[in-house]
Order: sequence, then structure tokens, then C-alpha cells
Amino acid sequence: MTLDCDSPKEACGIFGVYGVENVAPIIYRGLFSLQHRGQEGAGIVVSDGSEISSVKGQGLVNDVFSRQPIDKLVGNLGIGHVRYSTTGSTRIQNVQPLVAECVDGLWVVAHNGNLVNAAPIRKMYQEAGAIFQTSTDSEVLVHLLADPMYRSRPRRVARALAELEGAFAFLLMTKNCVMAARDKQGFRPLSIGKLGDGYVFASETCALAQTGAEYLRDVCPGELVVADQAGLHSSTFVDEDESRLARCIFEMVYFARPDSQVFGENVHSVRLKYGEQLAVEHPVDADIVISIPDSGNSASLGFSRASGIPLDFGFIRNHYIGRTFIMPEADARSSGVDMKLSVLAEVVNGKRVVVVDDSIVRGTTIRRRVTSLREAGAKEVHVRVSCPPVRNPCFYGVDFPTRDELIAGHEDVETIREFIGADSLGYLSLEGLFLSFEGRHCFCDACFSGEYPTEIACKDGKQALESMSNELNLDI
Ligand code: SF4
Repeated sequence: MTLDCDSPKEACGIFGVYGVENVAPIIYRGLFSLQHRGQEGAGIVVSDGSEISSVKGQGLVNDVFSRQPIDKLVGNLGIGHVRYSTTGSTRIQNVQPLVAECVDGLWVVAHNGNLVNAAPIRKMYQEAGAIFQTSTDSEVLVHLLADPMYRSRPRRVARALAELEGAFAFLLMTKNCVMAARDKQGFRPLSIGKLGDGYVFASETCALAQTGAEYLRDVCPGELVVADQAGLHSSTFVDEDESRLARCIFEMVYFARPDSQVFGENVHSVRLKYGEQLAVEHPVDADIVISIPDSGNSASLGFSRASGIPLDFGFIRNHYIGRTFIMPEADARSSGVDMKLSVLAEVVNGKRVVVVDDSIVRGTTIRRRVTSLREAGAKEVHVRVSCPPVRNPCFYGVDFPTRDELIAGHEDVETIREFIGADSLGYLSLEGLFLSFEGRHCFCDACFSGEYPTEIACKDGKQALESMSNELNLDI
């Protein structure tokens, strides 16, 4: 994928620690490792057992915590969040973790994913007089937790979580404990690690490694894990049922870092196999294989190994420009596109080039890359994509454009090839996508297949709850 306006965006990253002295710097490091999952905002909330303190802001982790240093965050438990908005606009109120004061204490919430039934739950509470502070789907959990229906009964958190449909990895915190929960279908990853005498929770294992934590296991789908004075204990809020698992295959294709273990597999190794399989499914006579860095790197290596065509560096990435793809507004994205990758003409000039990308969304960016390769003297340009055509939007926390904006949503492969100006175009098959796994049954692949694993209560996209917030009755 071309890391810009032609790309999907991730929902968020979450990181939490319980039972370690001075957790704020550890959470900061964890969030920094998860920066690729969201760049719009970041926040850390910690507790020393009696006081809760927080720092939140818009922008990159480094920027947020240099503007507002974390020295004042004192505590031995805390959670953090990096945000890309998949519901709600880019504004400070939507930056997480959310902190809410309920009648029986403070709740802190950090969420990765998208709740497909947030709109009706929100409407129900708003009609009953509740006031929402944000336009995010995540806030409905706070209202469920505060609702006397749940508050006054046993297994309050589990019962509230059981009301939610769609994709979620949640970290929750009170003054004295950290909780981690994953939806019953297991859409988003969430791992548990051990750090000294304490515990760490992270969206991806790369963040465990980079904070010195030892990986223990993943939070299971439908499981609520609590870290408190008594240690680590677990319960389920929905009975385990393998047949309903719907892990997001796009984590493997693009989102997760190659050095993470996701759904039990190393991401780099899976992408290598995607590249190898792509070479088998779409062979081509060429002189060199190049990748669209960084997310096409592993698959291009796999393609090179399987095809015997040497791998080279055809694009050089400017690491000092932000990952513009993750900026939410079209103008902000397009302004950085041309600055990011430059062609190494010495490598591609006069060559038949295979360029490996991880996905094509709108088609506009790969088209620009193909043009720049030709302008640099490439004799032929063959595009290979390490996933099937993206034909459908995602309702589970990945901000794809609408079906109309997805080029494969309305065009066939030959028309896309013509549009991007390539000599040939080959996508990995749906079967090839699952070769590393035991078939499709434990995964969601709806953006490719159109087979959504849940009912979708609201298909209005990320601004759906925003518009609900704006429907004010001004008849006063
Ligand atoms: S629709 Fe695609 S991106 Fe969304 S959860 Fe399913 S596989 Fe992942």
C-alpha cells in the first residue's frame, strides 16, 4: 500500500500497565511502539491508588508528551491510547483514554475497534437524558457501566461488555485495577505480558518487547482479564464459541508491525508467504523486484525468493515526513504524498520492474508510483498486490473509504490495470491469503468478500455519532 490517501487507516492502539513503579514512562514507550496504529492523538492516564492524573493531546506521541511532560503522572497503574478516528471527528474531546466520574468512582476507558451497535445504545441513553462528552463509539461503555441496571448487579463489567457488538479491544481502569477485554469475535489483537511483578497489556506484541515485558498470552475473544492486588484473574463475558471467530485478516496484510505476533503468527513471516504465493499465482518475466516501503517490504522479499528475481531498492522513503495516510482530512493527506517516496532512477532505469504493494484502495497513489517509475526509465512496470481486491468498506475499526471510492468496488482488474498504467496487475487470491492459517473460518475478510460476520446497525461511517451529537432541538 501506498501510505497515503490511497490507503486504509487503523483504528487505534492501546497499552496498559499494572503493578510496576512509575508506569508513565513505560506507557509512553508502549504507545510510541504503537504509533503506526494512530497518529491523531495520544493520552496516558495513571493512578497511584487514590489519585488519577492524565495527559492527553492531539498529534504524535512525541509531540503530545513533549508539550505536556509526563513527569507529573505518578502511579503504579495506568493505561494509554493512540488514536485514529474511525468514529468521531478529530478533536481533543475524542482523544482517549476517556475519564468518567460515576456515582461509585472513576472509570478510565481506552478502545481499539468499532462498535457496530453504538448508535442505538447512544440514542437510548440520550433519549433518557444522558449527556455524552464525545462523538466516539467508545463512550457508550461508560454509560453502560454507570447505568444502575449494571452498576448494582454482580459482574457489572462483564454484563456491560456483553451488550456490545462489533470490534473491540478495551482497556479499562479504576483507581486500583486495570482490565482488558476483547470482543467475542476477536477482531482486534490484544496481548498480555509480564513486567517484573506486574502486568502489561498491548495491542501488539512489538510494544511488549520494546518495554522489556515478556509475552504471556493473548486475551481470548469474549474474555475479561483483571490485573489487581490479587494478581491476574480471568472470566468470560460471552461463552467461547470458535465458530463465530472473526479475526481481522487486514491486521496481517497491513496494519500490524512485522515484528509483532498477531493471532499466534509472526506478521513478517505471514507477509513473506503472501509474497511467495503471489509469485506462484502471478508469475512474470522481470529484471528486479522492488517494494512500496515499508508495508510492502516483507511480501516483496517473498516474491523475490519464490520467483528468483533479485530484490532491489526502487523507492527511497523520506522518514522525516509523517505517515500522511493516517491523517484524516483529504487535504492534509494529499499535501504530503509527493514528498514521501522518491524513485531511485539508477535502479529502475531500463529495467522490467515488479513492484509489490500490500493493497490498493482508491488506486490513485499506486497510479502515481507507476508513473514515477516510468518517468525514471523503467521499461515495464508489473504491479503485484499481496491481498485480494478491496471491494467493501469495513465497519470494525478500519477507515476504508466508501464502496464507491474503492476502485475495486466498481471496476474489474483489467480496468484497474489500465487506470494505474501498469503493464500487468496481479492480486493475491482469497485462498492465498489464508494459506498460513487453517482456512478462512476464524477470520473476517469482509472487505474482500463482502461477507460481514455481524449485523451492522449503522452504516453511516465515522461521522455517524457526530451527526447524532449535532441534532439539537433548539425549541426553548
Ligand atoms: S472488513 Fe476487512 S479490515 Fe474490516 S475487520 Fe474485516 S478484514 Fe479487517
